[in-house]
Amino acid sequence: MNFAQRTNHLRPEGAYQVLARAQELEAQGKDIIHLEIGEPDFATPAHVSLAGIRAIATGQTRYNPPAGMTPLREVIAEYAGRMRGILINMNQVVVSPGAKPNLFFPTLALVNPGDEVIYPDPGFPTYEAMIGVAGGKAVPVPLLEKNGFSFDLEAFDRLINSKTKLIILNSPSNPTGGVIPQHDLEHIAQAAIRYQAWVLSDEIYNQLLYDGLVAPSIASIPGMQERTIIIDGFSKTYAMTGWRLGYGIMPEELARRVGLLLTHSVGCTAHFTQVAGIEALTGPQDYVLMMVEEYKRRRDLVVKGLNEIPTVSCLEPQGSFYAFPNIQETGKSSDELANLMLEGGVAVLPGSAFGKYGEGYLRIVFANSYENIGKALRRMEKVIRGL
Ligand code: PLP
Repeated sequence: MNFAQRTNHLRPEGAYQVLARAQELEAQGKDIIHLEIGEPDFATPAHVSLAGIRAIATGQTRYNPPAGMTPLREVIAEYAGRMRGILINMNQVVVSPGAKPNLFFPTLALVNPGDEVIYPDPGFPTYEAMIGVAGGKAVPVPLLEKNGFSFDLEAFDRLINSKTKLIILNSPSNPTGGVIPQHDLEHIAQAAIRYQAWVLSDEIYNQLLYDGLVAPSIASIPGMQERTIIIDGFSKTYAMTGWRLGYGIMPEELARRVGLLLTHSVGCTAHFTQVAGIEALTGPQDYVLMMVEEYKRRRDLVVKGLNEIPTVSCLEPQGSFYAFPNIQETGKSSDELANLMLEGGVAVLPGSAFGKYGEGYLRIVFANSYENIGKALRRMEKVIRGL
């Protein structure tokens, strides 16, 4: 078909491809443990769901402002500012159906054809997709295992230049679980200021952190708020993936432009979803703490189990619910090994689904029950010992 060029680079997300193959095997009677989809296995907290249900029952089901309803934007401005130690006003907040539109639209609003965009590799596949749709040149910067999967700063320094319009960061990271430390953020911030580049800082996992760690935000560094778009949302922290609720925080002028893109595309975010979002941010947080505690228990199990498998080694993820074990010593490509794991009854993603520098790794989601993770580790060990 004669498609517009701007969509020629688009590919499905690896997670959905593996899920489809896993479901085919399940239809043939095979038992598969699903560690491929990056989604909490917990239900949305009941008080949040009830707020949404009540909102539907009382007729909050109509159009509302494209950038979000005022009470939610106010609550987000206060919460997000408090978390990062910065001042945010509600006009800087753009609410969207999930975080994804807030990745796509600021990129469309800022990047001209030919502009360069630096992004993490391995990284969330939407980054490369949206850079391409905007007509930008995608410039991957490797994440280095030996630096806890922070940016390879030497490569970053080599690649940034006066054509760099945007730098995408994701900390804690999907797929590595790595957190970018403050001194690396300061290095990146200095370069962003020098080259007058924007930074899109995807912080959607910033509440899923372990061992008391805090993931610093580049927006908190002096001089950065006016060139940073913070992306956050409710999907991961509040187990609300299907509600579709996320937000971006950016300078007001850009927020107005992104609001126009929302006006002419999705129109607005569902009203009752936003009411549930207010409850999520202002209601009790003990459910979030419980989920994080449980993810930590599972993380410890995954990391210990993987490191006990010969030829596999796994850094301890500091945040998110992803482990990214190194499988180079198995002698198999990540694609081959992910396929063998699937045949062995565990669905995981090859690191190569996240970019060329993801080769040699697997991504394992530990948002599954402790018992299933234990079972999956035994199956994975059997696959590796059988090579
Ligand atoms: N950013 C990252 C790094 C993610 O991993 C995801 C979802 O997997 C998103 C953004 C998208 O979040 P949402 O479901 O709220 O659109």
